[in-house]
Amino acid sequence: MKLSHRITHLTGGGSDGWDVFYRARRMIAEGQAVTELTIGEHDIRTHPSILAEMDRSARSGHTGYAMVPGTDLLRDTVAARIQLRTGVPTTRNNVLITPGGQAALFAAHMAACEPGDVGLYLDPFYATYPGTIRGAGAVARAVKTRAEDAFQPNARLIAEKADGAASLLINTPNNPTGVVYSRETLNEIANLCRQRDIWLISDEVYDTQVWDGEHISPRVLPGMVDHTLVIGSMSKSHAMTGSRCGWIVGPEEAIQHLINLATHTTYGVPGFIQDAASYALTAGSDLEEEVAAPFRRRRELAIQVLSKQNTVGLIPAQGAMYLMLDVRATGYSGEGFANALLDSHSIAVMPGESFGDAAAGHIRVAMTIDDERFEAALKTVCEFATYLANRSAAE
Ligand code: PMP
Repeated sequence: MKLSHRITHLTGGGSDGWDVFYRARRMIAEGQAVTELTIGEHDIRTHPSILAEMDRSARSGHTGYAMVPGTDLLRDTVAARIQLRTGVPTTRNNVLITPGGQAALFAAHMAACEPGDVGLYLDPFYATYPGTIRGAGAVARAVKTRAEDAFQPNARLIAEKADGAASLLINTPNNPTGVVYSRETLNEIANLCRQRDIWLISDEVYDTQVWDGEHISPRVLPGMVDHTLVIGSMSKSHAMTGSRCGWIVGPEEAIQHLINLATHTTYGVPGFIQDAASYALTAGSDLEEEVAAPFRRRRELAIQVLSKQNTVGLIPAQGAMYLMLDVRATGYSGEGFANALLDSHSIAVMPGESFGDAAAGHIRVAMTIDDERFEAALKTVCEFATYLANRSAAE
C-alpha cells in the first residue's frame, strides 16, 4: 500500500504537546473527576430558537442538495453583515459558504498557494494551521511572535521569512493567546502583503468575542480588498460548532474559483443549517451576546484572581475564549507544569508548547466551565504555581 506523501506528512509528526489532553480524557473515561480547561467548546449549546429554525427548515423540505456556493439568503446575510461591520462594499459574489471555518481555511490556501509555495503562519498558532497549509500542497513556515511583545506579530520578523511566500495566515482575536491585533500591527502586515504580493488569509472566527480594544478586519485597510481572504464561522459566535457552517469572503474572481473547488470537494452545506445560520445572524445581537457573556465574565474573574499573586503572568486577554498564562517563574515548561497540575490537582490545561515553540513556558486555559468552578480552578493553578516557584527557589 502506498499512501501519498501529502497525506502521510500532513501533521508533521513528533510530540505535539497534546499528551496532557489525551491523558485527561483517559482519566475521565476511567471515572476520575477532572476539571477540563482544554478545548474551545462552549459550555452552553446552540440556542433553542436557532434549533427551531433548523427544524422548521428541514421539515419544510430543505434537506436536498443546497446551492454549492451557499443559499442566496445566507450569502446575502453574510455579505450584509460584513459590510455593516467593516464598511467595505460586499455582495453575495464575495461570499462562499463552507462547512465551517476549517474548510474555509483549507480552501483559502488552495486558492492562494501553488504547490511548493510557502504559506506563512504565526507561532503560537491554532493546532490545525500547519497541517492545513501542507494539505493544500504548500510549505508551512512559522514566524514567531514573542511573549515580550504580548504576542503581537512583528512585520519585520515576518518579512525576514517571507521569501517564496504566497500567503500569510493571521488570526485576530487570537487562539491560543487571546490577543487582539492592534491597528498598527495590521497596517504593517497589510503593507508587507501589498509590497510582496502575498495573500492575507485573515481568520476572524472570534470576531464577536472582543473584551478589550476593537476588532479590525484587515480587509478594510487601504488596498487590501483584493489581497485578503477573510475566514468566518458560526461556530464560536453562536455556539454552533457541530453545525459546520462558515465562510470565505474575498474578491469575486477568487470566490468564483473557490466555488469550483467546493463543487469538487464539499458540495456545499446542508440547507437547513444555512437557514438556521441566516436566522441566527439576523436575530439581533442578543444571541451573540448570550454566547459571549460567560467568557466576558470569566475573563474579569481571571483578572481579579491573577492580580492577587505575582507568580503567574497573564498575557493581555483581549478576546476569544482563552487565557494564555506565563508559568515560567515556576521553572517548569508549559508541558511539565500542565502534567504536574493534572497529576496533583486533576486540572487539565493545554501546554503552550502544543501551539508552537513561541508559547513555551506558558499554558492555555479555556474559559469553558461555569464561573464558580472556573474561579476555583484558576486559584488552584496560581497556588500550585507559587508552590512550585518557592520550591525551585529553595533548591
Ligand atoms: N480558527 C480558529 C482560530 C479556531 O480556533 C477554530 C476552531 N477552534 C477554527 C478556525 C475552526 O472553527 P470551525 O471549523 O468550527 O469554524
